[in-house]
Amino acid sequence: MKDVLDNNLQFFLKSLLPERDKLLIEIEKYAQEHHISIVEPEVGQLLNLLVNIVKPKKILEIGTAVGYSTIWMARGIESDARITTIELLPKRFEKALENFKKAAVIDKIQGINGDAKDVVFQLADIYDFIFLDAAKGQYPEFLNLTHRLLKPGGLLVADNVLLNGWVVDLKYPERRKKTMVYRMRNFLEDLKNQDDFVSSIIPLGDGVVLIWKKG
Ligand code: SAH
Ligand code: MG
Repeated sequence: MKDVLDNNLQFFLKSLLPERDKLLIEIEKYAQEHHISIVEPEVGQLLNLLVNIVKPKKILEIGTAVGYSTIWMARGIESDARITTIELLPKRFEKALENFKKAAVIDKIQGINGDAKDVVFQLADIYDFIFLDAAKGQYPEFLNLTHRLLKPGGLLVADNVLLNGWVVDLKYPERRKKTMVYRMRNFLEDLKNQDDFVSSIIPLGDGVVLIWKKG
């Protein structure tokens, strides 16, 4: 449980979500047991809503983990839309492919096992929707890398931007997290002055930022 939001409020919001199917619940358990930080279900629901509204044909996800957020999005896209998703760790990547098969969404998804910092240079497409959910210390870098891959009028969504609330009061519990926390804070502050984008921070789950590229 992330503590950006008050616990009572979090439980309340969770209680109002539509019921999840067996597969999503199974993946939530797996992620918890293996200490994999997947989106909260209410953020999954938000992603599903956003792809329903935006109707992107080409989606890019950076940080697949075991495919939980990918499945939330895959269930909301049109039948001719496709998701490209990149994951660094082979074991997680394999598990994600397994989950895509179970969810019967494998035909909509191109999985790439590799470092997104390299892989993005090999992508020939541009995207209407990008979900950024990889290494949290590297968001500014990833934003620069993905900027040219986002179509004008496209939406970029980034997860975990409030970093357990550390970004808010800078009371990070561990010294080694300091750099990550300051980088994220700078990333959010820089968004104020970006003329090419309109953005909004939603304090749901661990904090989600929506960044719309003008056009
Ligand atoms: N989006 C997933 C969770 C992703 S967790 C969900 O909500 O279900 C973040 C993932 O990003 C981890 O699995 C990590 O291995 C991966 N990652 C970190 N740095 C990366 C990089 N440079 N390239 C690709 N994947 C990366
Ligand atoms: Mg996340």
